[in-house]
Amino acid sequence: MNNLERNNALVARARRVIPGGMYGHMSVQRMLPAGYPQFFDRAEGARLWDVDGNEYIDFMCAFGPMILGYRHPGVEAAVAQQRSKGDTMTGPSALVVELAERFVDQISHADWAMFAKNGTDATTLCCTLARGATGKRKLLVAKGAYHGAAPWCTPSPKGVIEEDRSHLVHFEYNDVASLTAAAQSAYGDLAGIVVSAFKHDAFVDQALPTREFARAARRISDETGAALILDEVRAGFRLSLDTSWSSLGVEPDLSAWSKAIANGYALAAVLGNDRFRDAATKVYATGSFWMQATPMAAALATISALNELDAPKRLEALGQRLRTGLHSVAQRHGISLRQTGPAAMPMMLFDDDAKLARGNAFCTGMLELGIYMHPWHNMFLSTAHTEGDIDRAIACADEVLANI
Ligand code: PMP
Repeated sequence: MNNLERNNALVARARRVIPGGMYGHMSVQRMLPAGYPQFFDRAEGARLWDVDGNEYIDFMCAFGPMILGYRHPGVEAAVAQQRSKGDTMTGPSALVVELAERFVDQISHADWAMFAKNGTDATTLCCTLARGATGKRKLLVAKGAYHGAAPWCTPSPKGVIEEDRSHLVHFEYNDVASLTAAAQSAYGDLAGIVVSAFKHDAFVDQALPTREFARAARRISDETGAALILDEVRAGFRLSLDTSWSSLGVEPDLSAWSKAIANGYALAAVLGNDRFRDAATKVYATGSFWMQATPMAAALATISALNELDAPKRLEALGQRLRTGLHSVAQRHGISLRQTGPAAMPMMLFDDDAKLARGNAFCTGMLELGIYMHPWHNMFLSTAHTEGDIDRAIACADEVLANI
């Protein structure tokens, strides 16, 4: 096991003053097997150092916000320049206009942009806009999909009352019959259909959307006047420099973005078409920190770099290299490893592993060799990962799988 002495001392202190010692998706006690560090000291490129100085090649990328590498020089320079002038001010900087223009140029369906902080802000605002524009109540949401931590969408029922979710109707992702039935049950009262860029639920195989499913969602929205809401929070800019559904020829009405759009700086965006502009003008959407200028400077620099690097193509190539390498290593050891969904966002699950004994053993073994992976959540690649990093991970997997 890695030395986690400082980490463990901090965990003991944290338990006294932070509920559970840490909460949410970053709580290693709640989410991960023993051996994972809770606290980190620094990060650079594709590497992370925990508070005990252990170094890792990071395949989680902060759960998605990091896409160009930690402390990317272009992004950091833009941030430093803006910070020297002002960040949180009495009103927005000029960058908000520039950034809205940038998104409208970049993303086909967008006629306008609004900014916030977290992914939950963006998905929740999309739902409010859909209801505000249509005057209807029902939202269709895929079973098991994650859209944030507000009462309408949090995966934990604690503190949630029935009324928070009384107008949600669930369907199975990629199942047209199920989507159609959900829409029929909401007949006359349908405000929106909320869909993830692809099926990236925890604990299960990932699945890209079928063209048939995406078209059905568009058709139902068109027929009923409901909003088609695409949740790009996790996948945004990783699969495409337009929306993730652009390759299917299906445009949403509203899309929710956060995570990678500012390479780790706190920013979310809601993009919409003209049909929803009036509602977006009237809904009261705001937050004390939503207009901070530095994350907007970071986003402008990030989007430029993503275009220059053709990031989705690079991430796909790195992902394919990892997938192919892990596949042959697993085969060699006679282990059945499922790698599903887009290669740029790797998801690995072992067969016959309902209790994750293998997944946990694999990931803790990798951790000891300096590879930070996740046993049941999709992972993330960045343009800072090198072929050498990928090959190192494959070599470590070879060593770990030999002992599983
Ligand atoms: N939607 C999706 C698809 C997500 O993956 C997440 C975060 N994991 C969210 C919404 C919520 O984002 P945040 O945690 O920034 O509120």
